[in-house]
Parts: sequence; C-alpha cells; structure tokens
Amino acid sequence: MAKALRSVCPCLNSVWDVIFASERNSEGQREKDLPSPRNSLLADSQETRHIVYMALYDFRARTSDELSFRAGDEFEILNDDDRSSGTWWFARKRNRSNGECTGYIPYNYVAKKESLATESWYAGKLSRSEAKVILLSTQTTTGSFLIRESENQENGHALSVRDGTIVRHYRVMQDKTEQFCLNTINRFSSLKELVEYYKLNSLRSDLRLTTPCQLKQHRPSIRDLSYLTVDEWERPRKEFTFTKKLGSGHFGEVYAGYWNKTVQVAIKTVHAGAMNRKDFQIETQVMKNLHHPYVMSLYAICTTADPFYIVTELMKNGSLLNYLRSKEALHLGLEQLLDMAVQVAEGMSYLESQNYVHRDLAARNVLVGDNCICKIADFGLARAVKEGVYVSQSTAIPYKWTAPEAIEFGRFSVKSDVWSFGVLLYEIVTHGRTPYPGLDNQEVVSMVSKGYRMPCPDGCPGKLNEIMLQCWNSTAQNRPSFKALVQILVPFNSYEDTA
Ligand code: ADP
Repeated sequence: MAKALRSVCPCLNSVWDVIFASERNSEGQREKDLPSPRNSLLADSQETRHIVYMALYDFRARTSDELSFRAGDEFEILNDDDRSSGTWWFARKRNRSNGECTGYIPYNYVAKKESLATESWYAGKLSRSEAKVILLSTQTTTGSFLIRESENQENGHALSVRDGTIVRHYRVMQDKTEQFCLNTINRFSSLKELVEYYKLNSLRSDLRLTTPCQLKQHRPSIRDLSYLTVDEWERPRKEFTFTKKLGSGHFGEVYAGYWNKTVQVAIKTVHAGAMNRKDFQIETQVMKNLHHPYVMSLYAICTTADPFYIVTELMKNGSLLNYLRSKEALHLGLEQLLDMAVQVAEGMSYLESQNYVHRDLAARNVLVGDNCICKIADFGLARAVKEGVYVSQSTAIPYKWTAPEAIEFGRFSVKSDVWSFGVLLYEIVTHGRTPYPGLDNQEVVSMVSKGYRMPCPDGCPGKLNEIMLQCWNSTAQNRPSFKALVQILVPFNSYEDTA
C-alpha cells in the first residue's frame, strides 16, 4: 500500500533545505555519549596526541585504510578527518613492535584510558529499553548489572540490575558534595565505590550486584560501512555480493549480502523504471541523514545501472509484522512486546525532533534485529516538514493506519504519525492482528470519522488502551507527542526501585 504514495514531492526545494539543514545537526542520541570527536578533545590536535585511548571492543578492519584491534589495545589519535564527520579517527596503535600500526578506527569503539567508559560495567548513554534487552540476554543471571547515563536526568546515572526475569532500575543521585548514592544513608565518592559496596550489601532482599554485564559483546553499531563510505556512499556494484533473498518489496527484491566481502548488509533492489528518480533521492537522502539506534541506517546506494541498490544494515528477524506473527514471538509476554513499542516510540521521538514525518508507520515498516531490537524503516513516504504539516497530493493511503485529517485533507504531520503509532500499538499487543478486524477500508474511514475506535484488545491492560485512545484523538493537537509517549510508556513498563 505504501507504494502508490511514493509520488513526487511538490515542495522539493523546502525538502532539500530541511534535509541539508538537518545534516548539520543530525547527531543521534547514542553518538553523544561517546568521546565526541567535535568536542574539545580534538579542538587541539597537539594536545590530543598525548591522550591515550583504549579500545573497548575488538574491531576487524574492512579496508586497507582501517586498523584492526582488540579490546584493551591503546592508541593515540592523530587527527579527525573532516570528510568523515568525525565518526572515524585516524589513530596510531601504541606498543607495537612491527606490522601496520596506523589507520582509521571507529570513534565509538574507544574511550580515554582510565576514564569511566573503560570500566567493564559502564555502558555510557544506553536507553532503559536497551539496558533491559542486554540484561535479559541468556549470558546474564540475577545480579548482573550495568551503570548507564540516565535518560531523564542531565549528567545523572542509573544502575540497572537483573532480578530473575525482570530488570530493576535505580536512580544514582549525586548530593551537593558530588557524592554518589542510591539512598540518603550510604554515600560514595565514586561510582566504582558504589558498585563495590552493593556487591557486598543488598539492594533489596536477596539482590546484590554480581558480575558486570558482558557489555563488550554488545558493540555499538558502526554508522557506516567504512570510513570510505561516509561521504562517498554511491558505491560501485562490484563491491556487493548477494547471499540470500529475504523478501519482496513493491519495487523489487530484498537480499542479504556482503559489502567488500566483509560487512553483512541488506540490499534492496529497485527497478529504476519503477521509481521516480527524485523520490529515490529523497528516500535515500532522508535515510542517510538519520542516525538513531532505533532508526534504520542507510549505508550506501548504487544508481549507475538498473536496478538501483539501497544498502542498509541487515536486520536478522525481518519485518516486525512477520516477527509478531512468527512462532518465535509466541512466547513474548506483554513486557517484551511493550519494550518493542518503547523502542519505536524512541525512534519516532527522534524523527519528531528532526521534523520528519514518516507517513507510513506500521508494523510492516519496522524491522527486527537481534534481541528484539526494532528499527523504523521505509522512509519512502517520509517528508521533511517545514511548517509542521505537509499537504499531500496523493490519493492512495494505508487507511487503517492513517489519521482522519490525513485521509480527508492530506494533512500529514507528526501528529498523524502518532495516530499510526496507536494502531501499531494495537498490532503489537495482538501479535500482529490486522486492525479493525472484519471491516474493510471504506467502513473503517466512515466509522472512525463518526467517532468509532477499536475496543480494548484481549489481554491488553486498560491503561495501554487509554494510550491508544489518546493517539486516536480526533483533534490532532490533542494527541501526545512521541516525546511524551516515551515518558508515558517507559514507566508503564519498568521497575524503578530505591535501595
Ligand atoms: P517495500 O517497502 O518496497 O514493500 P520492504 O522494504 O518492505 O519493501 O522489504 C520487503 C521485505 O524484505 C520485508 O518485509 C522484510 O522481510 C525484508 N527486509 C527489508 N529490509 C530488510 C533488512 N534491512 N533486513 C532484513 N530484512 C529486510
């Protein structure tokens, strides 16, 4: 259904204005936690040379310009490269007697030596839902823990601990003397001291910190295929090999494959004739400028011949809709389902902050990777909106997901995406049921315009149904923002404790 909507955008100039404006400030949340290359660290490259960095993860070079390394290796950063928007650093490995010792390294794989970031339990900026996914993985047991930067508190931290099948989150407070504490009684001069104390003393009955979560196994994603493709993302076709067909889209097939025989990717083939070239440019440029853990990353395109390729990260479990309907997802409880909803809300909140309107948010357009990590995909319909609302000239619409004002007047906005998110919540809690069961599109449009809303699905808590109804408020302005939805959904689905 997505397809007919991919018409030429009539306000192309403003779209490009916004796209290029956003390029200058489109850092995703996760990047901010890391030793920011644009910050003071690299302002004075002379000074930087004397700072020793340590690798947090292993990394295997994919091109001859990159440097392979192992966790624990030490580096000096020689410069940051303007071409690479600072996400790749040119570094020299220390203590090497022979072999290649300079090359590009991904900046988010290293941290200043002896900084907090090098502690095995320190996760930096990690969202509550990511912490939960990591702590509930099979390698962890009760007491496994990590400390992360708090999402809600500037410069604050949170301690997340596995307790059986759930994850508890504790806010780490800092008093006037900068001491760290979980309560008013026990105060510590460092996070390390706090960790040592709660290894020996209970947080709550029978819950102590045991082993740090194996964060090193959860490498941050590298935003690009390599430092080479950061700006030069139109790539020669010969760099790509296909291994397996994953599915069929409207414009062609989607394959799993490799770039440069080293990096796993998904390759979407698009028959040049099937898509307006400008649409293609809009779709790919929009994606290229978006960087967020819950938004699909675009790696590269090939447009020199038919079919075009759109190369993105590979998401192991395919579309959320198919995943929800799969046997594998049958065992997922409400809590895990809601975690996926929170991820989508976080990704959409980022798009909202970038003034992007998706226009086709639905479970079929969200992809699922390892550990139920969800990423919003298919920006074919996204339009950068200057005035907050984009008036569509299109007539075909995914009716069951689309807000009444978008159907009637073509008024797509972040708030019409919020309406679609309400429908996506329905798809999630029902394990992928088609919304408005038993009704066809025309019936849905007519009934919804008269005030009809889907009833609370079986097994869905009343409070969650209330959130759906807020998303389906007939007045767009009265719907919550995605930012507010994250704030509503997160506490709904987490255990915030005090020690
Ligand atoms: P279209 O939007 O043109 O209909 P899609 O992008 O939805 O095409 O792709 C069709 C199918 O291919 C999806 O349902 C999904 O199963 C699979 N797919 C698409 N992109 C990826 C990806 N990055 N990783 C894994 N599977 C993918």
